[in-house]
Amino acid sequence: MTKADSPPLAPSDKQPPHVKIPEPPAKKVGWAIVGLGQLAIEEVLPAFGQCDLAKLVALVSGHPEKAKKVAAVYGVDPKQIYDYSSYDTIAENPAVDVIYIILPNSMHAEYTLRGLKAGKHILCEKPMATSVAECEQMIAAAKTARRQLMIAYRLRYEPFNVEAIKRCREGQLGKLKTMRATNGQNTQAPNIRLSQTLGGGPLQDVGIYCLNAFRYLTGEEPIEVSATAHQPKDDPRFREVPETVAFALKFPSGTIAQGDCSFGTSEARRYDVHGTHGSLHLDSAFAYLGQRLILRDSKMASELNLSPVNHFAAEMDHFSECVLSGKESRTPGAEGLADLRVITAIQEAIRTGRTVALNT
Ligand code: NDP
Repeated sequence: MTKADSPPLAPSDKQPPHVKIPEPPAKKVGWAIVGLGQLAIEEVLPAFGQCDLAKLVALVSGHPEKAKKVAAVYGVDPKQIYDYSSYDTIAENPAVDVIYIILPNSMHAEYTLRGLKAGKHILCEKPMATSVAECEQMIAAAKTARRQLMIAYRLRYEPFNVEAIKRCREGQLGKLKTMRATNGQNTQAPNIRLSQTLGGGPLQDVGIYCLNAFRYLTGEEPIEVSATAHQPKDDPRFREVPETVAFALKFPSGTIAQGDCSFGTSEARRYDVHGTHGSLHLDSAFAYLGQRLILRDSKMASELNLSPVNHFAAEMDHFSECVLSGKESRTPGAEGLADLRVITAIQEAIRTGRTVALNT
């Protein structure tokens, strides 16, 4: 065989058929984190590494040395660090699309309003604010600014709670009759959660997960609330906020839900749902990981295996996608407002010792 007859060993003009040319990388949404506390440092900032659509571009903090250190770890340009007085100038920063508010609860409304005024989309931590009036103001401001406002209910973006919602709402347990949820921890001082001025308290911090779960599992708004609380006089942690709150909600379909939350118990985060044909139990329901979903009918119990995800990466990617596509998030401001209405009714029930009716 002459050289001219021999076949080429590799075609120079095209790739072999099994080689896939990668798509150009998806456009990423730029995020600024406001408040470098425990949640931001331990959970949210590391979660950016698992995001497909969200990238960290700016930090807002009252402590410049801490912010510089954090910026160095995550490759944030030191010029992209703001403090609480320069925060509004973020309006001039085109790299920031979304602001994530991770401040004490009493500051959520102010920093959301200022962020919206700066023309940015807002992800605000739970509870949305400290009053129904603040929530309404935040929703109105987002509408005026034509920007999205999402509340950081991370469990709506993780597969175990999503599966529980599907099973409850599709009637797989039959008619839902009773639900029970517990969210408790032993909160040590000093802590924003123990300060009334900063919007703390077990109901606002952990009890909100129980009542949010009752709302997302039933898909209904409660019509009646009763509640009680305990604030021990001999424990200095509870000078300003109760230690324990327990409440019962009645829903229009007749489902009765009982929730309790505490800053004085060892960690316990779970719920049970009982329907006419079956029940489900979600262990570690409100934790960052470790969810276990057990389903029961009259004959047997089984555990459902699902692949866990990082809750924070999932919610940040969801919101980034909403910002890119213009579609509304699964947990907009209206969700935070609905919870604040129930929290307010629970507080009234505790104060008056009476059952409080809620208008739906
Ligand atoms: P931390 O107390 O750890 O952090 C709050 C940060 O806010 C501080 O580090 C500080 O950041 C900033 N800050 C500004 N002003 C004040 C002030 N007057 N007092 C205290 N801090 C101030 O709280 P967490 O990170 O635990 O919680 C923050 C928010 O996140 C709360 O709304 C909480 O409900 C929510 N959260 C949500 C969780 C979830 O799973 N979705 C879990 C945990 C909390 P800097 O020094 O940078 O200014």
